[in-house]
Amino acid sequence: MGNVPCAVKHCLSYQQLLREHLWIGDSVAGALEPAQESAQLSGFPEYVKIVEVGPRDGLQNEKVVIVPTDIKIEFINQLSQTGLSVIEVTSFVSSRWIPQMADHTEVMKGIHQYPGIRYPVLTPNLQGFHRAIAAGATEVSVFGAASESFSKKNINCSIEESMKKFEEVVKSARHMNIPARGYVSCALGCPYEGNITLQKVTEVSKRLYGMGCYEISLGDTIGVGTPGSMKKMLESVMKEIPPRALAVHCHDTYGQALANILTALQMGINVVDSAVSGLGGCPYAKGASGNIATEDLIYMLNGLGVNTEENWELGFLTVTSRASGREPRAILKWPVEEQTLIILSMRNTGRQE
Ligand SMILES: [Zn+2]
Repeated sequence: MGNVPCAVKHCLSYQQLLREHLWIGDSVAGALEPAQESAQLSGFPEYVKIVEVGPRDGLQNEKVVIVPTDIKIEFINQLSQTGLSVIEVTSFVSSRWIPQMADHTEVMKGIHQYPGIRYPVLTPNLQGFHRAIAAGATEVSVFGAASESFSKKNINCSIEESMKKFEEVVKSARHMNIPARGYVSCALGCPYEGNITLQKVTEVSKRLYGMGCYEISLGDTIGVGTPGSMKKMLESVMKEIPPRALAVHCHDTYGQALANILTALQMGINVVDSAVSGLGGCPYAKGASGNIATEDLIYMLNGLGVNTEENWELGFLTVTSRASGREPRAILKWPVEEQTLIILSMRNTGRQE
């Protein structure tokens, strides 16, 4: 346990220590075994797979600064060393729509693809799909919505039109043995239409699943859901799709994301999307905050005694999104919404700033 002072040992868990005092990570390397700290509580999955969406969902909502391509590549390469097994890399959309993702090909080609890690990319149409494959993608996602208005604003077509495009993409993907994932945004509410009916969410999810998406990620895009609405929505969708093929994607606008995820876990879901440092937001919903932070999710999972698929340690990945005066092992920094400093600290990389 190295040089951790006794008094500190007694009043804080190591997870908390590492979270709040990054420097301790160096002195207690190897001592942290959070998953063994408590027996697994009943009613939760044995493990949870985390889909890291920070580089895509997180960064695409950064409007003020276009993050330089080499920083994105470095960011993803560093994430690859944290134990994450799925990292969504970029989106092969038109740069007219999302300028932040204009360098999708360079990013995809530039990252180091580690064995055992999957690197899906968003492909809104067949053209994007072919570009993605040419750039080295081996897994794709299509991004649909349960709200007609959101679909038109976000991907510039009706739900029906989007489904036709996705069918083409998923068909081609299947033909090439490329796994395709389906997103359903606005599953718990829409910035334009407010409530979305359970029938609509279920119908869109079923359509994506039926066309061959192996997993459907149900997105609370603007973070308006509660455990109550999450439960009702999942009950409805699970009548058509088995829980093993579902994931949840929660934003934290009203501080409900972890509670919503907990509800989903209790209902048998064991795939959760998150973004390091809570990156993200929704460009069409004022005030909508980012995705649940990966580190907060892991903190909760460790507290529940639930292993992540990779059995990683909480202290392995510590990210803080606010400039806090800590300068321990900052690897990557870039301005986010002008103010925010991202500090990504991975103690085992051995890198110093
Ligand atoms: Zn999101």
